[in-house]
Amino acid sequence: MERGSAWKGYGAADIEQLEALAGDYRQFISTCKTERECCAESVRQAEAAGYVALSTALREGRRLRAGDKVWATSQGKAVVLVHIGEQPMEQGMNILGAHIDSPRLDVKQNPLYEKDGFTLLDTHYYGGIKKYQWVALPLAIHGVVAKTDGEVVEVVVGEDADDPVFCVTDLLPHLGQKQMEKKGSEVVEGEDLDVLVGNRAAALGGDAQSLGQSSLRCGTRLVDTPAQSSEVVTVPDQDASGDNLPKKEEEKEAVKAFLLGMLREKYGIEEEDFLSAELEVVPAGAARDMGFDRSMIIGYGQDDRVCAYTSLRAQLALAEGPAPRRTAVCVLVDKEEIGSVGATGMESAFFENAIAEVMALAGEEGDLRLRRALAASCMLSSDVSAGVDPAYASVFEPKNSAYLGRGLVFNKYTGARGKSGSNDARAEFVARVRRVMDDAQVSFQTAELGRVDAGGGGTIAFIPARFGMDVIDSGVPVLSMHSPWEVTSKADIYEARRGYEAFLRNA
Ligand code: MN
Ligand code: MN
Repeated sequence: MERGSAWKGYGAADIEQLEALAGDYRQFISTCKTERECCAESVRQAEAAGYVALSTALREGRRLRAGDKVWATSQGKAVVLVHIGEQPMEQGMNILGAHIDSPRLDVKQNPLYEKDGFTLLDTHYYGGIKKYQWVALPLAIHGVVAKTDGEVVEVVVGEDADDPVFCVTDLLPHLGQKQMEKKGSEVVEGEDLDVLVGNRAAALGGDAQSLGQSSLRCGTRLVDTPAQSSEVVTVPDQDASGDNLPKKEEEKEAVKAFLLGMLREKYGIEEEDFLSAELEVVPAGAARDMGFDRSMIIGYGQDDRVCAYTSLRAQLALAEGPAPRRTAVCVLVDKEEIGSVGATGMESAFFENAIAEVMALAGEEGDLRLRRALAASCMLSSDVSAGVDPAYASVFEPKNSAYLGRGLVFNKYTGARGKSGSNDARAEFVARVRRVMDDAQVSFQTAELGRVDAGGGGTIAFIPARFGMDVIDSGVPVLSMHSPWEVTSKADIYEARRGYEAFLRNA
């Protein structure tokens, strides 16, 4: 019962749509590398498609009717889009879910230090990474610095061609004899993932002219100002007043002093402001087409932005037509990679609170109606699947594995060591999903996460399933999952986008 390559069924029109989607997707993952950036871009696209903020609808006491569309975020890191359908919400919603956080290196709260003439930023990795993969490659910094005066400075450095980038260094092989004997998990240790960010010392003489000639181009936005991505910034003015000169006790840390002066000048950031910052160190650069045939995409953060973006596009595609039969919902959450915890993870009450507010505005107020709506809903909980990799065939069971190019993947169950931690979708719901996909001629495949006892994993599926709704894991297969540069197939992205829309319309 082998499923064939989706590519075999494509005509010219399919290829054209597939490439257009792939181009938009490449752009999305090239610019949206944090949960905040994904959330903001999702809201921007939703508003362009006619969605209004739930907060606005609440403030104005709007009555929501079939066809109305609202969005809400949790702290700007998780977002839910609701497109009200013809049926009462109490009869259930069709829900797409995915996550928008990805493995990365987070800058610590007290990160900055100088050693051997370098300034470095100490990090704490986020999510399940192979630490040795994150050395010796160009890195960018995305995030925010929240200042005590209320200003939130947005930082993006390392993405424009003219931007500087950063890196974590690795040991030369000539001296790496002992390192190479270590276990993979210890070759590079977490505490050693420090990002190299500077080497220039502040001049002691206060030669303002020579310092002034040094400039840095970086992509930075202040919250309330437009992008200034190619702005040329001069380094701190070290004039006769001597305000920015390294203090006597700091002279031994002149490299750190130079960097701090620059951060002060460019961003208005003091060292103390790192305490209230969220700076994420991610691979620098854009996603690219991959393969001579351009059939694949290599890029950072495809787990799980490949499912988030295709879910978003499917949700927004409904905005072009009449109101859907059942209310359509797309929820994109944070913190999946560390257990769906916190105010912005799927475990939070954000999702049900938002649905409760929408139902109240739609004239369906009340806890019981909310519970009925959730229990009568069905959901595709989408996350990437491990694609079969011929280099590591031994961890896959060929009949029940996902293959790149064979379409949208459904995992009846995930889990590890005897399905532990899995949401196991009921057979009747799997049959319904099969019918929806077959009717829409969506290429799909079914899979488990690797051989039994090879390992395993889970997603957000079990969390909404607690309400009693039908949930099945689905998604796009990926190679090199959780590495800095993950690989997907354009065919699977295209089929996911089509499958998600079919689910919203017909499930
Ligand atoms: Mn994931
Ligand atoms: Mn993951």
